[in-house]
Amino acid sequence: MINSELKTRDLSVVWHPCTQMKDHEWLPLIPIKSGRGVYLEDYDGKRYLDAISSWWVNLFGHCNPAISRAIEQQLDRLEHVILAGFTHEPVVTLSERLVSITPAGLDRCFYADNGSSAVEVALKMSFHYWLNQNQPEKNRFITLSNSYHGETLGALAVGNVELYKETYKPLLMETLVAPSPDCYHREAGEDWESHTRKRFEDMLALLAQQHDRIAAVVVEPLVQCAGSMRMYHPVYLSLLRQACDRYQVHLIADEIAVGFGRSGTLFACEQAGITPDFMCLSKGLTGGYLPLAVTLTTDRVYQAFYDDYTRLNAFLHSHSYTGNPLSCSAALATLDLFEKTDVLQHNSTLARHMARQVETLRDHPHVGDVRQTGMILAIEMVKDKSTLTAFDWKERRGLKVYQYGLDHGVLLRPLGNVVYFMPPYVITEDEIELMCKTAVEGIHLATR
Ligand SMILES: *Cc1c(COP(=O)(O)O)cnc(C)c1O
Repeated sequence: MINSELKTRDLSVVWHPCTQMKDHEWLPLIPIKSGRGVYLEDYDGKRYLDAISSWWVNLFGHCNPAISRAIEQQLDRLEHVILAGFTHEPVVTLSERLVSITPAGLDRCFYADNGSSAVEVALKMSFHYWLNQNQPEKNRFITLSNSYHGETLGALAVGNVELYKETYKPLLMETLVAPSPDCYHREAGEDWESHTRKRFEDMLALLAQQHDRIAAVVVEPLVQCAGSMRMYHPVYLSLLRQACDRYQVHLIADEIAVGFGRSGTLFACEQAGITPDFMCLSKGLTGGYLPLAVTLTTDRVYQAFYDDYTRLNAFLHSHSYTGNPLSCSAALATLDLFEKTDVLQHNSTLARHMARQVETLRDHPHVGDVRQTGMILAIEMVKDKSTLTAFDWKERRGLKVYQYGLDHGVLLRPLGNVVYFMPPYVITEDEIELMCKTAVEGIHLATR
């Protein structure tokens, strides 16, 4: 009853993100009343296992008691204060802890309130650093094909997923594009590392040729999440770090999706043993509770802005809710949960369990690839397995899996023809079995 009433009211006033609203003439909108652990529950008592962590933000379950309590306590002390000229304990402690857990050398935290803004901060800071160093010609960025860095105009410009970008091209700054090291299209029998190394040659050539006008290279370490969960070998990041040093170009690591354990390590950059010049974090930062983002950078970058006011070198960028105390308290409680138990070790057990549950799909006539990096597992549905020919996007095969999932109590949200899991870390082995079984059945049905 309340379900249908809410749907009607919603559809008369709300414009939903990333949605063709006309679809809702036949595709039901789902009101959610409450959440607990990996489950979301609607007003009829129907439950949905959140296999995608509500767009990759949730780490330790919905309504996690420890995070909720931390926010409640902060709520009685201070809800918000301007962060220019003022500070507060949660933002100071959070910054100390982020500096200590991120790769060595990232020593400064600049806050924003969503991932796209954290990317904008990194782009502006990088350009501005070179400007302050008297190198204004370093004002371009290199990005990878199939990359995604958010939806605001700057972030969209350095992204490369055509579906989101094409329409807005006239509004966007030009970027240089190097081919993605994505291992899906490697040659038969080739391993990830050698494919990734080969792809790096194009990046190296681009840097060698254009470095005088390049401020930074921006990458999503190890997994291009919005770009259909395409994955590559960590060697790319090591080679890129070396080349960026050699050619005096910044390296921006966008760990907004892969940070906080998704890749198997706390941060994906660790798998290559590198420190980027900028690291963008958001999504899991607050455990999926509240909007918060941070761009970490080095002391070297910080010092290039540190000067007498009248020289006008300062980074005059801000957002109203920068460093919000409630968001910071959620982030601190999230970091406590990482400290309390060996989350990464436990996740590796869960990740292996996920892999076992979908092993049979490798032989499926319409599955072109089953790939995994840590707690991210993706299954690519194809029309022709031998040539990896994709299904026509207009057939919306992924949507069929989505609908099958909902009918069976699992929230899967395929990206085109790619079905993936990115569950909260509190998922149990039984819940993994339900999630995988539903996805496997959905894939059988959608590829018939
Ligand atoms: C989600 C995402 C962003 C954008 O974050 P928003 O908070 O949605 O603006 C940027 N980069 C990556 C890699 C992401 O996955």
